[in-house]
Amino acid sequence: MRKIVLSVLLMSCTLLTYAQKKPKINANKKAVMASVEGRASELIELSDKIWAYEEIAFQETQSSKALADYAEAQGFEVKRGVAGIPTAFTAEYGSGEPVIGILGEFDALPGLSQKAVPTKDPRNVGAPGHGCGHNLFGVASLGAATAIKELIENGELEGTVRFYGTPAEEKFFGKLWMVREGLFDDVDVCMDWHPSAETKVAVQKGLALVDFIVEFEGQAAHASGDPWNGRSASDALELYTTGINYYREHIKPTVRIHYHIQDGGQVVNVVPDYAKIWTRVRDTNREGMEKVWKHVERIAEGASIMADVDYKINLVSGVHEVLVNRTGAGALQANLEYLGPIEYTDSEQDFAKKIQESTGAELVGLESEIGPMEETLENPMGGSTDVGDVSYVVPTIRLSATTAPKGTPWHSWAVVACSGMSIGHKGMVYAAKALSMTMVDLYEKEKLREEVKEEFKERKGDYEYKGIVPDGPPPVDAAN
Ligand SMILES: [Zn+2]
Repeated sequence: MRKIVLSVLLMSCTLLTYAQKKPKINANKKAVMASVEGRASELIELSDKIWAYEEIAFQETQSSKALADYAEAQGFEVKRGVAGIPTAFTAEYGSGEPVIGILGEFDALPGLSQKAVPTKDPRNVGAPGHGCGHNLFGVASLGAATAIKELIENGELEGTVRFYGTPAEEKFFGKLWMVREGLFDDVDVCMDWHPSAETKVAVQKGLALVDFIVEFEGQAAHASGDPWNGRSASDALELYTTGINYYREHIKPTVRIHYHIQDGGQVVNVVPDYAKIWTRVRDTNREGMEKVWKHVERIAEGASIMADVDYKINLVSGVHEVLVNRTGAGALQANLEYLGPIEYTDSEQDFAKKIQESTGAELVGLESEIGPMEETLENPMGGSTDVGDVSYVVPTIRLSATTAPKGTPWHSWAVVACSGMSIGHKGMVYAAKALSMTMVDLYEKEKLREEVKEEFKERKGDYEYKGIVPDGPPPVDAAN
């Protein structure tokens, strides 16, 4: 009996704590929620347009224009072609401090074209597709910025809101050059989100990475008539990848090495005099990544000696791991808890299960619960993002919002399908609300901004940020 009384007491305490934790919502938060809701249909239309443009890194001309034109029509001051990148832009409204930034991506991935249906069915065979949901990403962020702009316009909030149209996240990492240009230098706090299979604050740092291209150059000859006159670039390439694959046994489990052979010779009856391979090294922190990077470069040198060919290494770019901000994430978490889970219809759950069936995932449908704020892991799994570099120059608060079912292979046709229909749209609208509500907190609460900045300083320590980019202009032409 005592046990029962005790557990009832405990339960009511838990409920009480939960009720107390639920943030009170003020008029400005109500206003941004209503603004996003009111614009939902035009935001969906814009994201569907970008979904159908399916443009890849540095070629996002129509997608960038669609977003920039929308911002301009809302009264933002738009600067196009910033940081030497034709598809990069900023859209700003208001004046003075604080300056709150928000990131928006919009590039697609090659070869993933797909209709908005739950089985693999390309829209345009071989064309790109939004396999990372960036059509939703850019639009949700601009929707949030627009809601904030309205409050600044009405005199409800003071300061500046700046949307960053950030191209080429999937290849080259466009934000690197925007950071190098100093475009974030006056920003107090930056917001960011990413489509996902879960809704939660994003407090994992991702992986640092570097991309470099190795080229081998030898001597062409007849493959059978006079091979002794040949020095094979593709032999070097094979020795290089063999060296990397032997090296895998001796690297830490946190390291990832990938490569993409871009040129391995043209025909079978010529000793190839040229070979080219894109290499990527990742680790959960820069120091670990740099150590492996240097060794892989030595493997390239070794391969060139063995094949008696010349070699050349060109740095493409690299990104930092993300500097997490748990203080900012806490404010975002409170808003997620206020918003509650995204609700799905039966037909959306059916669509999700069909996707899971087609991709061999468990048939659990869509995850609608809000995840708790996780512990920030020292060695997380997952991908990398150029948001990492932004997070080293300005405190950055990040969200994951559900736009695809659990277990869906990312960077696949299945994500493209969900990003072009209501499952993706719902996640996008939800993200716009959560982001703009948290921006309201940042404008209204100076103390929160100060605490966010304090954590940023502590985590950064005395590390002096320097982007992993070669000198000179961004490789915009390399993309064409
Ligand atoms: Zn992405």
